[in-house]
Amino acid sequence: MTPEDFRRAGHELVDWIADYRERVATLPVMSPVTPGDVRARLPVHPPEGPEGFEAILADVERVLLPGLSHWQHPSFFGYFPANAEPASVLGDFLSSGLGVLGLSWQSSPALTELEEVVTDWLRQMVGLSDAWQGVIHDTASTATLVALLCARERVTQYGAVRGGLQAGEAPLVVYTSVHAHSSVEKAALLAGFGRDFVRAIGTDDTHALRPDLLAEAMREDTARGRRPAVVVATTGTTATTAVDPVGEVARVAREHGAWVHVDAAMAGSAMLLPECRALWDGVESADSLVLNPHKWLGAVFDNSVYFVRDAQHLVRVMSTNPSYLQSSADGEVRNLRDWGIPLGRRFRALKLWFLIREQGVEGLRSRLRRDLANARWLAEQVDATPGWRRLAPVPLQTVCVRHEPEGLTGEALDRHTLAWCERVNRSGRAYLTPAVLDGNWMVRVSIGALPTEREHVETLWRLVRAEAEGADT
Ligand SMILES: *Cc1c(COP(=O)(O)O)cnc(C)c1O
Repeated sequence: MTPEDFRRAGHELVDWIADYRERVATLPVMSPVTPGDVRARLPVHPPEGPEGFEAILADVERVLLPGLSHWQHPSFFGYFPANAEPASVLGDFLSSGLGVLGLSWQSSPALTELEEVVTDWLRQMVGLSDAWQGVIHDTASTATLVALLCARERVTQYGAVRGGLQAGEAPLVVYTSVHAHSSVEKAALLAGFGRDFVRAIGTDDTHALRPDLLAEAMREDTARGRRPAVVVATTGTTATTAVDPVGEVARVAREHGAWVHVDAAMAGSAMLLPECRALWDGVESADSLVLNPHKWLGAVFDNSVYFVRDAQHLVRVMSTNPSYLQSSADGEVRNLRDWGIPLGRRFRALKLWFLIREQGVEGLRSRLRRDLANARWLAEQVDATPGWRRLAPVPLQTVCVRHEPEGLTGEALDRHTLAWCERVNRSGRAYLTPAVLDGNWMVRVSIGALPTEREHVETLWRLVRAEAEGADT
């Protein structure tokens, strides 16, 4: 493609995306395809000769579009909001267009320095003290793995450069709540702790981790010759947005010298709002935390910010220093390859920078407040409607609901729940994800897609009531 071809095709693609955002509300939210449908419409072999851009774009429309569930749809209430603000999309596009890599500061100085500045903006936006420093990772899963590696290396005093976990020291133990995200257990396994040494601590009636049970588990492990190494507290769990008491968790952890990592992947965005910050009271006593601007905040995926209080420790754990990457500036700059796992780094800061500048902090705050108010509205409707139950507090934007017709319990109730949720999804008019809570299915309504206004939540509630209360089981 010559720059002239690129200019023409690029304008066409931007137009296509703008049109997509305009018409997305008219498309079925959940893709109606069945497994293999999309593959069947694609050629098995690659084209021998070049194809025109028109043909490629036509297949995006014809083949791919029907095979997408639309996360930017106003009636997308599944999983979590993964907002792609158009300004952020342009930042991502610019990152690709520049095609630069941050292998070291010198390989693209602005890439590193903008990342430093924009993660520091985010730190200020969520009200963290200046003791924290941030770096952008692809996902919270990666950030949590990095946190567990840092914890492991602190407890073992950098055992990795000796015998590592094979040196036969006391087993190290990881603690988190039964409602922690699956990425915590995955990180623990990948970091070598072993499933036998991951403790899933029980929760209270708001589904938050119980510090008394944590203390008990740590005491017992210590008595048996094991070493508590790290506690992962969650601010905003995946099922219900429950909030673990970070301050109390940290107090217990500190008695045992354990690292504290806070997983605020989803709820971290809410900390832009001063009125929400009590939810992570005590966060300053944690060692690391992760929040995902690529969820509710609006930075297009992938954009997960990992904050640490002891950056020197992080760098010591992560650094390698091969000669071909050394430069005379090394003493004065950050080399972000030493702040995480990959060597190569995209210019991810651009999409956050574009987002924050184009929206302004106030613009972002007012959208988050809109979503919180919509969730409160829905919670009130559920509470006021006979036959319906709300299964968890609503500190943020997720409302967990169940329709409980008289006499229906256990598996029959589960079948009813899954059936009406499936009918809603199949209708193409809204998208919801069910989840198991305390052994039974319930339905999560996760509010906060960019175009979701009160009217969409009202329409959803009517649809949900019609599908659940209509004859079935
Ligand atoms: C979404 C989420 C994750 C995983 O995030 P990725 O960035 O997709 O790895 C982890 N923890 C919580 C609480 C989440 O909400």
